[in-house]
Amino acid sequence: MSFQVEGKTAVVTGGSSGIGLAAVELLIKGGASVAWCGRDEARLLHSKDYILQKYPEAKVYTQSCNVLDKSDVTRFAEAVKSKLGNVDMLINNAGQGRVSNFENTQDEDWLKETELKYFSVIFPVKAFLEQLKQSDCGSITNVNSLLALQPEPHMIATSAARAALLNLTHSLSHEFVQYGIRVNSILLGMVESAQWKRRFEQRSDTELNWEQWTANIARNRGIPMQRLGKPEEPAHALVFLASPLASYTTGSTIDVSGGFNKHL
Ligand code: NDP
Repeated sequence: MSFQVEGKTAVVTGGSSGIGLAAVELLIKGGASVAWCGRDEARLLHSKDYILQKYPEAKVYTQSCNVLDKSDVTRFAEAVKSKLGNVDMLINNAGQGRVSNFENTQDEDWLKETELKYFSVIFPVKAFLEQLKQSDCGSITNVNSLLALQPEPHMIATSAARAALLNLTHSLSHEFVQYGIRVNSILLGMVESAQWKRRFEQRSDTELNWEQWTANIARNRGIPMQRLGKPEEPAHALVFLASPLASYTTGSTIDVSGGFNKHL
């Protein structure tokens, strides 16, 4: 089934790895022009080479950009418009989580976590809003976590900031209806990532392979599907919500957690 993104233009923040890169690839497969950013130049270049080797005809643009630097994001938005044209779909994916409980979260860690979860969305939304208003199918799709609804004590600051982001996403969806811009998010459980790969390399139980090791983690955490998600799985949900296929859906979420959501 087609996502109906052919001829549309999309932006994916944090598109140089993991879930972001999987979303970039899916959008390109669907015929969209795609711009993406990340901070690390080498990783960004590597992701661009990967995409262009597989899809030589793809219309792409990459730029090193820290989404927490407002002028960086403004420059990125201007460059995307001039290279690929007006943006239809903004996917806010850049970021990472913080593992800490209340007692070992310092005051500045709370501020950093709040800054990351708020401004990684606020700055790109501000920078791309005028372009999205010009689109006949404008959408903003935020990567969020199930922690927003189901906090974990070992990720206390991330959980609280995720809840705030869910609330903000809902407010934006109502405010932007007047512009025809839909705003949604996905709520992730645990998805294979560079962070998990690093932990795997440092594991003590070296007799376990990647599948066995991640399945153990999933079982220990009580994930009903007994495995971590693959980056392509949240990418499918992201691209669906961003695409015209979800034209009557705004202020909504898709759960991508392997059944870990304990709410009705
Ligand atoms: P990855 O580490 O594989 O990818 C993160 C991407 O974001 C990279 O491209 C990274 O590039 C970029 N990035 C991070 N910070 C910034 C920044 N300040 N400005 C611009 N780009 C940035 O992680 P995942 O694919 O696993 O995660 C994607 C999103 O999903 C993140 O927001 C993460 O917090 C969220 N998430 C992931 C979960 C999981 O289990 N994997 C669970 C819940 C949420 P660079 O470092 O070069 O800037």
